[in-house]
Amino acid sequence: MGNKEMLIQVRDLWMERVSNNLARGEGVREVLSDELNRFYDLLLQAVESGDPGWLKPILIEWAQSRTQSELDEEIALPPIISGIIVQTQIVARETFSPEDAYQLVENLFPIFTYCYEQIAYHETLVRIAYVSTDLERVKSELGRMDRSKSDFISVAAHELKTPLTLIEGYASMLREQFPKDDTSSSPVMLLKGIDNGIRRLSEIVNDMIDVSLIDNDLLSLNFQPTWVNRLLKVLQKELDGSLRERNQTLEIRDFEGSDEMTFADSERIHQALRNVLTNSMKYTPDNGTIVVDGRKLAGFIEVTITDTGIGIDPDDQAQIFEKFGSLGDVALHSSGKLKFKGGGPGLGLPITKGILDAHGGTIWVESEGYDEEKLPGSRFHILIPIRHEPPDEKLAKIYQPLSSEANQAILTDDD
Ligand code: ADP
Repeated sequence: MGNKEMLIQVRDLWMERVSNNLARGEGVREVLSDELNRFYDLLLQAVESGDPGWLKPILIEWAQSRTQSELDEEIALPPIISGIIVQTQIVARETFSPEDAYQLVENLFPIFTYCYEQIAYHETLVRIAYVSTDLERVKSELGRMDRSKSDFISVAAHELKTPLTLIEGYASMLREQFPKDDTSSSPVMLLKGIDNGIRRLSEIVNDMIDVSLIDNDLLSLNFQPTWVNRLLKVLQKELDGSLRERNQTLEIRDFEGSDEMTFADSERIHQALRNVLTNSMKYTPDNGTIVVDGRKLAGFIEVTITDTGIGIDPDDQAQIFEKFGSLGDVALHSSGKLKFKGGGPGLGLPITKGILDAHGGTIWVESEGYDEEKLPGSRFHILIPIRHEPPDEKLAKIYQPLSSEANQAILTDDD
């Protein structure tokens, strides 16, 4: 007897055993028996033609009809195929001589292997599709939350700006009521306190406005001749008082490219360098050192700012350039801007990155890790593109004499 005839002979028994084995409820058994009948018809075709491909459509259909909850509950199809294989062996052994039964099972083996492979493959595809849909949903939810966050920052910043300007105006009018040489009377001292608070609050509001400009691609740059070494000199003066207070050393080295004229928004580059430098001071204990060095690369000036501070865990090195990417305890946020670990709202580095990105440059950090005892330090790398002309045509005309090579050499030398 051929394999097909043997299968035809055991069909009813096979159907009963397999459906009893797979289905528990009566309703399920009916649906299942329709499916098993289809499967059996195709199995007969596959045996007759020697091509297991006959079973492919039903296997794909089974895999694709899996619902997410079935997949979540880990009710996988491969064990169902295993059940079919086992029942086929049992039915064959009960019906035929051991040799015939063995022969039938052996001949069916490649077909069942094919079923196994197909079902596992297509079920995995369905799982991947479900997971991707889930990921898409989470991504769009995150995108929506991120947009609400930026909208909130933008609205809050603009709403705070107006009353802040009013307070600033009244405080300065109040200060005018006292003689200029009065620096120590108690109302003047109180006004000083108010002034400090106003200054700090305006810094935060301005940071919030900058972040929302960057978020919405609205940061406009005012390109003008810029020299990195001049900006660094200004910063050294600006930070001198705080450096002394913290007993920190800021060493600014001369490096190739630092005296090169490039077109950039010098105010914004100053702001970017300032943010990184003040962070280096904040996250370095008293008596530490900050070194500014760099080099000229093809098309870029690279500035490196290296501190002897607490360092940054490699896992956090990308996060700190994200909005509110402050690491650690939010409750520890301090308003003393340059105090050791005097964290802020976590907007400084995202703004710095936004400014550099808008210029066509970039920023990244390297650090062995975070350790408040061993102080591994951090090194920030900043790339500022070298532009011999401003990108705007009108500005390029205005600055044409400056952009010529001869003049650049003079400008470079005169510093
Ligand atoms: P913050 O207002 O918190 O200083 P920033 O955006 O300027 O926000 O910095 C984000 C976080 O990156 C900081 O909270 C700090 O954890 C980490 N960080 C930045 N610069 C340094 C540095 N030089 N050394 C160690 N950690 C740093």
